[in-house]
Amino acid sequence: MALELFIPPKRDGQDETLADFVRRRLGAEALDKIAEPLMAGIYNAEAERQSLLATFPRFRALEAKHGSLTRGMLAAQRARASAPQAGNAPPSLFMSFARGAQELVDALVSRLAGDLRLNAGVEALARADGGAYTLTLEDGSRLRADAVVLATPSYVAAGVLRALAPEAAAPLDAIRYVSTGTVSLAYRRADIHHPLDGFGLVIPRSERRPVNAVTWTSTKFSHRAPAGYALLRVFFGGSRSPQSMALDDAALLATVRGELRSMLGIDAAPLFHRIYRWQQANPQYDVGHLDRVAAIEAALPAGVYVTGSPYRGIGISDCVRQAQETAQQAVAALVKQTIQG
Ligand SMILES: Cc1cc2nc3c(=O)[nH]c(=O)nc-3n(C[C@H](O)[C@H](O)[C@H](O)COP(=O)(O)OP(=O)(O)OC[C@H]3O[C@@H](n4cnc5c(N)ncnc54)[C@H](O)[C@@H]3O)c2cc1C
Repeated sequence: MALELFIPPKRDGQDETLADFVRRRLGAEALDKIAEPLMAGIYNAEAERQSLLATFPRFRALEAKHGSLTRGMLAAQRARASAPQAGNAPPSLFMSFARGAQELVDALVSRLAGDLRLNAGVEALARADGGAYTLTLEDGSRLRADAVVLATPSYVAAGVLRALAPEAAAPLDAIRYVSTGTVSLAYRRADIHHPLDGFGLVIPRSERRPVNAVTWTSTKFSHRAPAGYALLRVFFGGSRSPQSMALDDAALLATVRGELRSMLGIDAAPLFHRIYRWQQANPQYDVGHLDRVAAIEAALPAGVYVTGSPYRGIGISDCVRQAQETAQQAVAALVKQTIQG
């Protein structure tokens, strides 16, 4: 890894897999033990397919600007040290909703005015007169719309657009998804002998375990468990442990307890547990992803937009940013159309 300083930078601007980038600059062991579990893990991705430019463009930018990651990181550190201090404590590394992510949806619903229809699946989209569109809903009812923003998984957007814009549906279909799940387990703190310092553990793919990572949820967010108790969250599925997605609840719990026993020495039965499975919910940013997204956007009919996790960032803050940008584009186009009309 120390030789990284002397490895010439790639400057052709082409995408590459995360695995190729890390192997090229830092070596195979750094990929296996650090980058793959941490950087591919966040995306539930396979490092051998994951697009560097779509997921960690900053690393390529550091390489391009400083010729080496090490030099780039040292420069960033120096810049931080010499920047004027704001005086306030730095914000927490992690933020969440006090009562869970549903709060975000509830807040949006409470603020949206107009003809809001919840739990109303869209089945098809067709052209109407005057540049507008007709949406057909699952219950057979129809809506007329001047602009349409599809914030669904990309494979759903592909289905809705197939008849209207097959050239957009094809690259939408090409975005792969994987399924993942979590098991949250509550314990008496005294039943866990591990200090639960740090925030959890990630597991290299090469260990071939049936789970991918464990978060100390109550260390990360103290309000998630009362004093004297601890909450752990185990992640499974994706491309690392797809076999765990197929387990029924009892078998999954037994597997997870076996893993916690072997990795953390937890023998006690959890006070309670909750299992969540997210089927086809994790879009995969394979190498070339940004080109695919550009092809989708170029093929969309005027007045139709796609936004959300399949495109330019999977984090909730990325989704919010993309949604705001898409809404601004849609409004600007409608204003332009009105002025021209
Ligand atoms: C287990 C897990 C943990 C995660 N942890 C974090 C984290 O800690 N931090 C973070 O930032 N991100 C996290 N993420 C990622 C983040 O939650 C997602 O990327 C993000 O919520 C996706 O938002 P979205 O709006 O693109 O998609 P979704 O929230 O999936 O929304 C798509 C919507 O489309 C609707 N829909 C589907 N079909 C139709 C149809 N035919 N007609 C109309 N509507 C339809 C669905 O009902 C759904 O509401 C996590 C994801 C998972 C699965």
